[in-house]
Amino acid sequence: MTGAGPLRDSFGRVHTDLRISVTDRCNLRCTYCMPLEVTFKPREELLSFEEIARVARVAVRLGIRTIRLTGGEPLVRRDVPELVKQLVAIHGIDEVALTTNGLLLADQAVALRQAGLARLNVSLDSLHEDVFETLARRRGLDQVLAGLAAAKRAGFEPGQGAAAIRINAVSMRGLTESEIVPLAEFCRREQFQLRFIEFMPLDAEGGWSKTQVLSGREVRELLERGVGPLVPLAAGDPGQPAIDYEWADGGGRVGFIDPVTQPFCDRCDRLRLTADGQFRNCLFSTTEWDVRAVVRGGGGDAGIAALLRACVAAKKAAHGIDTPAFERPARAMYQIGG
Ligand code: SAM
Ligand code: SF4
Repeated sequence: MTGAGPLRDSFGRVHTDLRISVTDRCNLRCTYCMPLEVTFKPREELLSFEEIARVARVAVRLGIRTIRLTGGEPLVRRDVPELVKQLVAIHGIDEVALTTNGLLLADQAVALRQAGLARLNVSLDSLHEDVFETLARRRGLDQVLAGLAAAKRAGFEPGQGAAAIRINAVSMRGLTESEIVPLAEFCRREQFQLRFIEFMPLDAEGGWSKTQVLSGREVRELLERGVGPLVPLAAGDPGQPAIDYEWADGGGRVGFIDPVTQPFCDRCDRLRLTADGQFRNCLFSTTEWDVRAVVRGGGGDAGIAALLRACVAAKKAAHGIDTPAFERPARAMYQIGG
């Protein structure tokens, strides 16, 4: 019914990870992601939880093993723990995780953990409210810190193991240099995994330029000068985009996701489903595959599977940010799901 074999593209990459966006709405307005004034998708254009779970079930039959919920801000959509429960129950799924800005985590951490959520990525670029506000264009640092504390109490653990909490920080030249060492010290103290992500051309206002990219290498140099030596770790999961280091003094790990200066397209195992039901084979894809039309048009599971296979088959070798032919996608990050 769903064709044979894993989701292998024409370059041999097998896809096992699906990012599912549940909303394009958000309670922040990060400069690198979203415009200040936004018109969100009408509710009826978003997939229902039942529709998402149905697409996910087909994807898992085709070899998807890990799902990460994202947005927009996923926790602004009502009853996300209910969706987590439905996804965790799919036979063959290894892990359901969530990426959040943490603002609503204090209220929802217990329900998410009880629903079976395995991991939490919390985005936090600064520990200073003024810089937080410059980047996010809203206040909220205390709420994020309260959310992290609640997540720990709910059983999401610091450290490297299962149920780990990870902090993701975007690096932007001229804006975040001063935040890097305090974030690292905070994460060492709290034993959170910390990952720095290079600024990608997915902002809504079209302001991205390569000069604003503070590279992972530069961040690492700032960390070594401000905190201490880092030792590279052997590469782990090949689908994992981060290059991980360990503090030489045993203070935990720091990872670097460098999509601009060190693209990892050759080992990408990721597919995406937008909140309005479009499959994408790359963050920078300029084509989408309309699974909502299949689901609502009575296409059946075989139709969903065929569409996902077509999406995978069309995947390009690389995003090509550095090439003259690079074309920015029409959607910004909040409309895709990071
Ligand atoms: N709202 C949630 C959050 O912020 O964690 C989930 C969605 S957000 C789009 C997912 C991740 O994408 C966040 O860690 C965010 O920092 C990152 N992100 C957004 N725009 C980006 C950009 N232009 N370049 C690099 N990372 C970006
Ligand atoms: Fe919202 Fe996350 Fe985008 Fe910031 S990065 S505007 S929190 S979706």
